Amino acid sequence: MEWLAVKTGAVLNSSAAILDQAVQYSSQFESTLSPAAMKVVQGVMGNDVLSAGFFLMIVGSFYTFFKDLIVQYYYNILSWFYVSVEVQEGDDCYKWLSEWVAERPLTKSVRHLTVKAIWAEDDDDRGYYNNNNTRGDERPKLMFLPGLGSHVLYHKGHKVSVSQDRPDHAAGADSEQSRILASIQKKQSLTISTFGWDMSLLKMIVHDAMEESYKKKEGKTTIYTSQPYDSYWSSSATRAPRAFHSVILAEGLKEELLSDITTFRNSAQWYHDRGVPYRRGYLLHGPPGTGKTSFIVALAGHLRMSVCIVNLGISGLNDQQLDQLLNNAPRNSILLMEDVDAALVKRKAGRAQEGSNNVTLSGILNALDGITAQEGSVVFMTTNHIRKLAPALIRPGRCDRKMLFDYADEHQVRGMFLKFFLSRSSTGQTTNNNLPLPKGIFALAKPDSKEQARKDAYDAMIHEVADKMCLAITHKDAVTTAQLQGFFMLHRDSPETIVDEVPRFLEELTRE
Ligand code: ADP
Repeated sequence: MEWLAVKTGAVLNSSAAILDQAVQYSSQFESTLSPAAMKVVQGVMGNDVLSAGFFLMIVGSFYTFFKDLIVQYYYNILSWFYVSVEVQEGDDCYKWLSEWVAERPLTKSVRHLTVKAIWAEDDDDRGYYNNNNTRGDERPKLMFLPGLGSHVLYHKGHKVSVSQDRPDHAAGADSEQSRILASIQKKQSLTISTFGWDMSLLKMIVHDAMEESYKKKEGKTTIYTSQPYDSYWSSSATRAPRAFHSVILAEGLKEELLSDITTFRNSAQWYHDRGVPYRRGYLLHGPPGTGKTSFIVALAGHLRMSVCIVNLGISGLNDQQLDQLLNNAPRNSILLMEDVDAALVKRKAGRAQEGSNNVTLSGILNALDGITAQEGSVVFMTTNHIRKLAPALIRPGRCDRKMLFDYADEHQVRGMFLKFFLSRSSTGQTTNNNLPLPKGIFALAKPDSKEQARKDAYDAMIHEVADKMCLAITHKDAVTTAQLQGFFMLHRDSPETIVDEVPRFLEELTRE
């Protein structure tokens, strides 16, 4: 009590001192005024209306000042009762938590949502969709997220607050171009808060969100792509893995590549013992449509890896961002740089206008050499014109194996044909059910064996046509596997007569 009295006395004494000072200052202030200004001040003070207005203005300023003070302290005090975790767009946690939030009902108070259309990718081995699964019938899954601001949801009986924020324009963005850049680079953040001081619920939420996301991806291949103006990966698709056997390459090539990469992935110790950077680069070169990309995606699925596609051609990607991208690729993923030659050629042509928003050859070289964060990195580059590539880009160390993906040879023509027409395809579907049954003993057989007999007869016919197809289309015709796919799809219901269509098909190709 005594202490309080002493403190109050001290406060009163200092207030009196402040008042004295104020009186002194006001008389000093008056003495600095010119006679004319003094007259104005006296006029205001003498006029009831003006002095009342002046009084209101002072009261208004005090009100605003104290209101801001209260609001600020209110939130500071309130934050005392909460624990929170913040994640930024671009981090894996952001994606996990966004999905986690999207899958939980928000309270009715949420009135502003953002929505994303998510397509469930279905990679059909044969490049087309069967009648039960036509593209036209498909609809994307809609993912609703709370919009910017704070929202509330309940999880296991606990109140959880979710807030989405996006920083304002970067200060100092003077030109229109830098303002656009700054607005694209603004990363959204997501904050999850729970009541109390115990962090365990928050940690559990993040952990659950991660587990849920991984469960959804189990047995699927995730494709990540790079974003313009940024250096983080966003997962563009999670799809059923493409069957490895569905990619038909020159005899032995697939097995050779698979064995090389498997040996590499099992050789961590060997690389460490010799102090060699633990990474391996592959260059797949050859005409477009020979299965380079398809092979890499199928390989990733086979090895249970994801694929990170760097789009070197996108404007806004510079050397520094490329370096960050390659070093921050999600674990256990294959890095794929497609059409490296095209990206660099385009760059030369457009350099003048595009300024520094592009990667350079030396940027690519540095980024490849600098991959350190990811131990055991597998980098694939693809090109249609190996001769256009700078030798430095494809020297061993950056590119350890170079594989030609050439025009279809006999093995591929046969493989592609059988893949499309053989009744015992990977999907187990019979492509043509209208063939007549063979006569004789099979006519008396049970329905099951009748069906079997019909399939055997059908397959025998398909093998015969495949032999003819291999004579009709040879490596010399320079047909790509993608073109074969198009041709076989066109005649998918008439394998018996397809060989007759080959001359027309080849003629059309030469005209293209
Ligand atoms: P590239 O990367 O060489 O340009 P893609 O892998 O993009 O070729 O192939 C384009 C299309 O052709 C895909 O739909 C793919 O299914 C098909 N295709 C091309 N080559 C093959 C192949 N060797 N085996 C199976 N399908 C192929």
